[in-house]
Amino acid sequence: MTTPKRSIKLLLVDDSVDDRELILMNLRRGGYVPDVHSVDTKDGFVGALQENSCDLIICDYSMPGFDGLTALAILKEHNLDIPFILVSGAIGEELAVKAMKAGANDYMMKDNLQRLVPAIERELKEAKLREKHRQAQIERDRLLTVIQNSLNEIYIFDCRTLKYRYLNEAALNNLGYDEDDVHEMTPIDINPYLETPDDFNRIIQPLLDGKLDKDLYLTKHIRKDGTTYPIEIHLQLIRQNDQQFFTAIGFDLTDREKDARRIKEQKDIAREMAEHSKHKSEFLANMSHELRTPLNSILLLSKLLLKSKSGNLTGDQQKYIDVIQESGKNLLSLINEILDLSKIESGEMELSFETIELKSLVANVSDVFEPIADEKKLDFSVTVYDNCPSRLVSDQLRLEQVLRNLLSNAMKFTQEGRIDLDVFTEKTSSLVNEHQIIFSVKDTGIGIPADKQELVFESFRQADGSTQRKFGGTGLGLSICRHIAELLGGTLTLKSRESMGSTFNLSIPLKEAADAEPQRKHGPERLHQPPDFKDEADRAERMTLISDNRHLISTLTEQIDDHSGTLNVISSGKDALREVARYSPSTVLIDPYASNFSGWSVAKHLLNDNTHEYAIWMITDETHPMPAVDMKGLSGKMSMPLSSQNIRALLTTPPPGTSAESDETERTLLLIDDNKIHNEALSEFAEEIVDRCLIATTAREAFETLEAASVNCIVLDLTLPDANGQDVLLQLSDDPKLADIPVIIYSGRSLTNHQKEELLTHASDVILKNIGSHSRLMSRISELIQPSDKTEKPEASISTSQQQWVLLVDDDDQSYFSISSLLENSGRTVRRAENGHEALRMLQTHKEEIGLVLLDLMMPEMDGFETIEKIRQNPSMRDLPVFIVTAKAMKGDREECLKHGATDYISKPISPEKLETLLSIWAS
Ligand code: ADP
Repeated sequence: MTTPKRSIKLLLVDDSVDDRELILMNLRRGGYVPDVHSVDTKDGFVGALQENSCDLIICDYSMPGFDGLTALAILKEHNLDIPFILVSGAIGEELAVKAMKAGANDYMMKDNLQRLVPAIERELKEAKLREKHRQAQIERDRLLTVIQNSLNEIYIFDCRTLKYRYLNEAALNNLGYDEDDVHEMTPIDINPYLETPDDFNRIIQPLLDGKLDKDLYLTKHIRKDGTTYPIEIHLQLIRQNDQQFFTAIGFDLTDREKDARRIKEQKDIAREMAEHSKHKSEFLANMSHELRTPLNSILLLSKLLLKSKSGNLTGDQQKYIDVIQESGKNLLSLINEILDLSKIESGEMELSFETIELKSLVANVSDVFEPIADEKKLDFSVTVYDNCPSRLVSDQLRLEQVLRNLLSNAMKFTQEGRIDLDVFTEKTSSLVNEHQIIFSVKDTGIGIPADKQELVFESFRQADGSTQRKFGGTGLGLSICRHIAELLGGTLTLKSRESMGSTFNLSIPLKEAADAEPQRKHGPERLHQPPDFKDEADRAERMTLISDNRHLISTLTEQIDDHSGTLNVISSGKDALREVARYSPSTVLIDPYASNFSGWSVAKHLLNDNTHEYAIWMITDETHPMPAVDMKGLSGKMSMPLSSQNIRALLTTPPPGTSAESDETERTLLLIDDNKIHNEALSEFAEEIVDRCLIATTAREAFETLEAASVNCIVLDLTLPDANGQDVLLQLSDDPKLADIPVIIYSGRSLTNHQKEELLTHASDVILKNIGSHSRLMSRISELIQPSDKTEKPEASISTSQQQWVLLVDDDDQSYFSISSLLENSGRTVRRAENGHEALRMLQTHKEEIGLVLLDLMMPEMDGFETIEKIRQNPSMRDLPVFIVTAKAMKGDREECLKHGATDYISKPISPEKLETLLSIWAS
């Protein structure tokens, strides 16, 4: 029988070669293939232990310089667990005991080695077991360490007695107990919510019954010192062999609760701040009302004093009033600035983006500054470059505010020289195809030193901060301007050299209006139903439109249909007078842009007929701007889309000079404002444009007045002693008898866009009591109050009276000669200007004498378009007939001319007939 060979690493400690052979022979016989390392000294033994690991040590009991007991001691010292068998020549009982005590695993005689192999086998097996046990122990210790050191609290308790068997360090520390304290304790002892064991049984029973694997609950633990802490417990029943016990793992929630508390606190603070800022906004809104209202009265009353010629003011008194006016205005603008600044700071400045006519934007600001520049003898020029679009999308009011501020500074800080407002577009960067529009205000004034150039944009800072400052001001303007520029998505930058001048550039990203919604030009729609015109028979229902714009014709037809009116269309301006007479309409609508004639000439032609019995309105579609041309005798201008209110105005405008304009349609205005003096002062101004002005200081009084008199327009303050303005507005619009009366809100209260929009659902306009607001109010009243042609008829003849000059603007001598002789032949007086600048100058000085302007389109420096725009920028020259003369008749030329404000267009060569037809209409 062969036994399988087993290899074994053996450390053999024996000095006798024979003995060693004997041992090895026994091993081999027993089926081992020994890998032997032999030593017989102490050093050799220690060295062997250090160098190699071995499975077994067989050691002679005594050697000349070494012995078995010493070897055992060394082994122990090295903490090694290697099976150790001691062999010896002679053996006694006593020796055997000694060896076993010292740690030998077995002991045998050299001459009796048959027990050796079975002993080796047994000892190897036992060593293996011991090793396994040792590993298990290590593993157990490791787990225990983890549990012991876990940051979570770990509890183990008996499932019958509920007594704690184990608490880890975190649990002990948090509870404040020692290990010894807790052995007699149960979870009930540390939980304030558990009073009897039954309370706890209810929790553990489902686990014991196997209905739940584990349970999770939030509770509290009581510390040894009586304090408590919140804890989340994961409870589990553990079954190990035949034992059962509970483990509870706890997460201390103190921090989380703290976090939650902190979050709640922060939320509370945020809520408080929101509340606070709401109060602040309300306070500011009220304050603005409280400040603006009395100031408004100051301005209004002082203006009234100046106006009353009967007042016999002395020169000094006049001066005092001027000072009052000036100071009032300054104070009002200061209030506006402070309110703006606080709005910016609280992030409440709202912008309303809309489609803006660039021309009108520029005209609005330049109109204000032209007289100032004149007075200071400064050259002021405004140039809008060709690369600008005609419309853009931005916030018109804010944009104007910035430009006004920059221009006002330029005028203030420039004693001589010039001021230029240039408007042009530029690519934002060479990489992308985005453009920006730049409004550049350049002056030749005192300039700003380099080290002050950033500072002037800070609030309350001025370049000259000394107490002997030469120029007034608050130092708020530029800071607000820069904020507004940023809100508009752009920048405000400055280049300046001391005593050379400054250039402020406002750049904003260009959003052209093409893809924007068409602009509403005539205020929002009122919500109430359109009135029923059945009673007024057919007088008000017939309209004639003169246009060949298909889109305009179809949309207007639909809208008029909806309002049960009829619309006739005349597509040619030729014979307009005869054509219109055929339909005998109550209203004629004229499109200035019709392609084969100028609507203005047609309008003028119709107006020249003194017997006409229709109202004449100019109308444009959404894609054409309404030109800045005026004409006496027109009922008004409108742009699509029309609101119901607009259509109603069109349908009900009585023909001029008809009996409809009798006493019963007397234009009556009702002023509702709690300030009586303010009312009276306003009514003084209003009486120039209305027939009767009624006053109410409370809501009740207002409704009583409305009951008794027929009113055509209402001006309403928002704060009344017995009601708030919004309620009055609602009450008005709910009453079918009153709903149609246009209401203008006139208030000192700063309103948010939202509040304003809400008001505008029922009101025709909202005007802030502010600088210049009286005139705005008056012009709105006169627009809204019907009828409006009371004074226009007689005036029409004045402008066409006498021989007036024709101003011919042409740089070309030959062309001038030919046209002027045509004109002179037909008995006109002609004056020449060689270029646009000269024309503007002549118009300034000879405004009265010049009745008509012929303008060549192609001129150096300032072409005809630009010249005409400059002319139209002056409101008093909007009804001056200005014709553009061009050599090449290009498609679209006429439209361009009309867009820029031309009254009509003549192409060269000019035939005497053509010219005469036009002149007969315009200078009849
Ligand atoms: P204010 O003019 O009310 O003092 P601004 O913020 O508009 O406030 O201007 C701040 C300062 O910047 C002015 O006081 C002035 O020193 C300087 N400044 C502004 N514009 C000009 C300008 N065009 N030329 C010279 N200095 C200017």
